[in-house]
Amino acid sequence: MPAADPIERIGALNGTTFDAVVIGAGILGSGTARELARRGLRTLVIDRRDVGWGTTNRSTRLVHGGLRYLEHFDFPLVHEGLRERAWLLRATPHLVTPLGFLLPFYRESWWRQIEIRMGLTLYDLLSPRRSLPGHRSLSASRALRAEPALSSVGLKSAALYWDGQVELPERLVVEILRAAEQFGATIVTRCRAVGLRIIDRRVGGLTIAPDAGLDAVGLADDPPAGTPTSSSAEVSAPLIINASGPWADQVLAASGIRRPPFLRLTQGVHLRYPIRTRHAVAFEHPRDRRLCFSIPWQGGTLVGTTDTDVDGGPEQARISTDEVAYVDEGARFLFPEAGANRPDWATVGVRSLMRKEGSAGSVSRKHVVLDHGPDGARGLTTVAGGKLTAWRSISADVADHALGRKDPSALDAVGLRGEPLPDRRRRGIEEMRSGALPVTTTDRLALVYGSYAHEVLTIAGEDPWWSEPLIPGQPAIRAEVAHAVRSEWATTTADVVLRRLVLGFDTSLGMSAGAAVAAVLHERAGWTAERCEADLEDLRRELREHEVTRTV
Ligand SMILES: Cc1cc2nc3c(=O)[nH]c(=O)nc-3n(C[C@H](O)[C@H](O)[C@H](O)COP(=O)(O)OP(=O)(O)OC[C@H]3O[C@@H](n4cnc5c(N)ncnc54)[C@H](O)[C@@H]3O)c2cc1C
Repeated sequence: MPAADPIERIGALNGTTFDAVVIGAGILGSGTARELARRGLRTLVIDRRDVGWGTTNRSTRLVHGGLRYLEHFDFPLVHEGLRERAWLLRATPHLVTPLGFLLPFYRESWWRQIEIRMGLTLYDLLSPRRSLPGHRSLSASRALRAEPALSSVGLKSAALYWDGQVELPERLVVEILRAAEQFGATIVTRCRAVGLRIIDRRVGGLTIAPDAGLDAVGLADDPPAGTPTSSSAEVSAPLIINASGPWADQVLAASGIRRPPFLRLTQGVHLRYPIRTRHAVAFEHPRDRRLCFSIPWQGGTLVGTTDTDVDGGPEQARISTDEVAYVDEGARFLFPEAGANRPDWATVGVRSLMRKEGSAGSVSRKHVVLDHGPDGARGLTTVAGGKLTAWRSISADVADHALGRKDPSALDAVGLRGEPLPDRRRRGIEEMRSGALPVTTTDRLALVYGSYAHEVLTIAGEDPWWSEPLIPGQPAIRAEVAHAVRSEWATTTADVVLRRLVLGFDTSLGMSAGAAVAAVLHERAGWTAERCEADLEDLRRELREHEVTRTV
């Protein structure tokens, strides 16, 4: 099992030419790479860390139109989200699933309730027909029967509506990139853009270098932007897409583009509680009436989020005690059990909003595409903002801008790889259950890998050793490690555990999975004991980001 060496992979890129290079393999960079490759361009996508490492896996994980944006009369944004929600539910049914939302009315005035119900009716009208059921009203007692964990104190009535959830956006990014690769794209991780080559006000290529933080989590350890290292590579391309999310201003500055920063960064904190809920709940926070969510997720309930300005770049984002207290106040208001069940996991993500004064909540969530021709860099395009839900249409917009022509087939009702959409009732689990593996394993493989599960099964069939559980008593198997390294660009234990096998949402399980993954890589990929130990230290550091004990 060859374990990719990022330095070697970067070296191999030196002197190569592509039609387009995409900087950043979050959901927007991955989507854009897929779209450009689908349109026939030889495309390279690079990420300084790992695919899906940034904002994309620190979100609320909803696939939605954004009920809240109706209050700002942002109908096109809501409509785009609802159309893309309908498509994602069909195209990736193992990853994007319908989720019922309760909207309880506690302190809302009679008039506010009418307003919200009118908003829900509009939300239904803007949704493509029959993509999900319409909303309905519930009495207080029916709402409590539907969601027994909900506080009954002062509950007047509720509404029930539907949206989508992507429990594992990390996996969605991997599948988008698999499709991009099938269309001919090249994906290289652990390398970052450190400078652009601009000749006669036109981009000609870029310098890429191994990520200085290869064995450090936290961007503060980087050398100054724009400093090429001895192992850097020169890549030529007439089109460069800056899809580096909240790092977009930093990438532009490092590229010598002189323009004022265009992003306003705000952070959003989520806490997970070990409480089992059946529905998501959309609620007005008791302190300031901001719309917040609680979402059933990974055996617990994710509650959030905050919207606090971040100064000095995304690396300054921290889970503050004030934000923990704010989210906790919301959780206790909604679920009496939350007081006795302390949060066991936390995450912070950084939004890329357009620079505008006023409250962060009032800034539009619409994406922006910037053409840097007027900045003296024709061929350079930046995309930022928007929602992960709309990644496909945003990516099409970026490709249209970069290429100067529209391709209406970008939004066709086909799968990620252009294949016919699967039957909407099947998630592909049943046909995998006939094999020799336990049902819990085949169910896991179908839900995590969808139609790629057969690749894992093929590896498991090569040698019975591969079909052994990775951790005794758990459904994940060793073959998944080989699959992550061979087919999904994983280069570290943290990549495998956190963003391929998705076993890191529980710190102790994450560390046991890490030790088991390192053992597989040691035995089958020849990793030295030192490399495994250093890698486990990285994993420990990444997992530490999610500890709540340090912050509450
Ligand atoms: C708290 C929060 C909650 C959200 N909830 C939702 C939700 O429920 N539903 C929804 O639809 N949207 C949601 N969003 C929005 C959504 O998460 C983002 O719009 C989306 O993830 C942005 O993806 P991206 O690809 O632009 O950025 P990112 O995912 O941040 O990707 C950028 C990538 O660029 C890489 N990079 C940076 N610099 C360099 C460099 N120099 N060279 C190479 N690579 C580089 C980074 O490593 C990173 O992987 C939420 C956002 C936040 C913050």
